[in-house]
Amino acid sequence: MFFGWVQGGGNLAAVGADVVASVMNSNCGGRSHAAVEVEREVVRWSAELLGLPSESSGVLTTGSSEANLLAALVAQSARPLGAVSYVARSAHSCMERACRVVKETHLCFVPTDSRGRTSVSGLSSLMNSYGRRGNKPAMVVATAGTVDAGMIDDLAGIGALAREHGAWFHVDAAFGAALACSDALRGRISGIELADSVAFDFHKWFQVQYSCGVFLTRHRGHHLKAFSTTPDYLARFEHGIAAGEVWPCDLGIALSRGFSALRVWTTLRAYGIDGIARVVERCCELARSLRELVLVDSRMRAQAEVDTCVACFWVDHDAYDDDVNSQVARNLQERGEAVISTTRVGGKTVMRACVMCHRTEQRHVEALAALVLAEVGRLAPSRARVPGQAAEGQ
Ligand SMILES: *Cc1c(COP(=O)(O)O)cnc(C)c1O
Repeated sequence: MFFGWVQGGGNLAAVGADVVASVMNSNCGGRSHAAVEVEREVVRWSAELLGLPSESSGVLTTGSSEANLLAALVAQSARPLGAVSYVARSAHSCMERACRVVKETHLCFVPTDSRGRTSVSGLSSLMNSYGRRGNKPAMVVATAGTVDAGMIDDLAGIGALAREHGAWFHVDAAFGAALACSDALRGRISGIELADSVAFDFHKWFQVQYSCGVFLTRHRGHHLKAFSTTPDYLARFEHGIAAGEVWPCDLGIALSRGFSALRVWTTLRAYGIDGIARVVERCCELARSLRELVLVDSRMRAQAEVDTCVACFWVDHDAYDDDVNSQVARNLQERGEAVISTTRVGGKTVMRACVMCHRTEQRHVEALAALVLAEVGRLAPSRARVPGQAAEGQ
């Protein structure tokens, strides 16, 4: 009954992988050994899954926050200093943080459309007006699966605009990348293959235990330029343990790194891309079903469409106080019955459920809907707004 935020499910096969990785205690920062080869294979699979060139460069990270930071750093080293990065209001907060760390980038927030996706026309006019003032673009960020409402940006449209202006096109696909596993759903993230770089998580929809994400870029040269150093004490040999031209430590921030690749490798070997596809498809169906189930109550409203595995719904903001929504979420959490979280859509508080776990079934979303509606039944009547009168507490 855990539907809060974007919470990964984990899986049984990876438990064994973690035991093996712990026994081996490999250092995946570099050198020539099996664990590094496993990571390279996982990176290759990731690029192929998304339709990026199989010779793309990539590195495993602690998650998408780190992977998005790597993107901002690579984009910066590939573009002029002082250039502008375009990030939508609906992007994850780690993107703003990444741009703050990259001090040479000027951050420009892009408006969203009525469904919470990056406004392509808004982006276009911002890029044009900055361009007229002589400001070069650094990076344009699109999101595949927004953290608020699970929306998918027009990746092809944003990618084309980025290319037209000479900007680095980055896609934050933290959980949305998993849609690529499904033949039926892959089309929803089409355009991701145009990206200069992509960040996504294995520890979310891919059901891999925490923590593991990946940064991918089709520009190996820019990737190395951003991070590669060759100090004397890390000199490479042609043969032996010090062999291998590019080590993972050349592609990111960390030198000593654990063997999290085995967890991903084992998950994909055990269940296959098809296994992940079935989970992803069911999560999307269950989120859509949950939306229908809560709308049975005439006091309830919901987002127009469920793009992925996130359903946002709320007690009618015109008729009831906004804070009923957070009270419902809080009460269910505190009673230990279910976990949903809240966010804001159009400036109002809404309840938010994210279906992400392979163990979640129809009976769980039915139980969640019943709990939510019972709680709304308890709280809403006393929170009704009297027309023409200011709401309580305002
Ligand atoms: C979860 C998430 C992130 C942050 O990823 P972490 O793995 O938690 O660091 C970034 N963007 C989106 C869209 C997310 O859902």
